[in-house]
Amino acid sequence: MSISADLRLVARAAKPGGTIVDVRGVRIGGPEIVIIAGPCAVESEAQLLSAARAVKAGGAAILRGGAFKPRTSPYTFRGLELEGLRLLALAREETGLPVVTEVMDARHLPEVAGCADILQVGSRNMQNFTLLEEVGRSGMPVLLKRGMSATLAEYLQAAEYIMAAGNERVILCERGIRTFEPSTRNTLDLNAVPMLQRESHLPVLVDPSHGTGHAWMVPAMACAAVAAGADGLLVEVHCDPERALSDGANSLTPEAFRRMVEQVAGVAAAVGRPLFKHEP
Ligand code: PEP
Ligand code: MN
Repeated sequence: MSISADLRLVARAAKPGGTIVDVRGVRIGGPEIVIIAGPCAVESEAQLLSAARAVKAGGAAILRGGAFKPRTSPYTFRGLELEGLRLLALAREETGLPVVTEVMDARHLPEVAGCADILQVGSRNMQNFTLLEEVGRSGMPVLLKRGMSATLAEYLQAAEYIMAAGNERVILCERGIRTFEPSTRNTLDLNAVPMLQRESHLPVLVDPSHGTGHAWMVPAMACAAVAAGADGLLVEVHCDPERALSDGANSLTPEAFRRMVEQVAGVAAAVGRPLFKHEP
């Protein structure tokens, strides 16, 4: 045992065969690699729909987009909130892609749960224990991001909170941690992938966008994540990254995303895993 914590429900021993979280027919944690992509934030109808069409064409299985954005400065764009949720539902209707979006506060849970197919709990909320219990009680699939300064023991105990509230549909996501290295936004901790998979039965995704902070690094680290055994990727894509209202620096263009998916498919094939694809 490498992680010492009281993991009654999350531990691999509780479910040795592993967990598959089924989101409208997209199976996360099975043999297929699942790619989740879309803009950091929902900015407008035109911006979201163009990104949603582009990621679908490029091979994404699920659409991402933030409506409630946790931003470091209160003076930056903090999301369209309820209007953002409405636009995500519109994008799902048009593309057929399931939607993941962040729930920042338990007070917004009814509205976010009414729109999303997966509830995202962000890095800054990984130890918001009341929020963890609320998303646990919702019974909806939860994508729980690793806190930027959380150990893996703390991370798995956060997942345990969700499961202890009665929800088995938990998806983990490594998104980079704070280190002494300033050239990247975070240090993408790919050690986490095999360690989490050894210690837990939950699916493990990797977010190379926030993990690096640089769009040009994203394809390399996406391939590395899949080589390390990740069950899927969470990637930010924007049709005009230079004008993005948040995280343009780590957002891929649709063309770069398409090329990344091709590369990732090659690595996936080498490790014996197909990419998840929607029926055309
Ligand atoms: C995000 O995925 O939109 C996000 C805010 O990421 P994190 O919580 O990992 O910073
Ligand atoms: Mn972002």
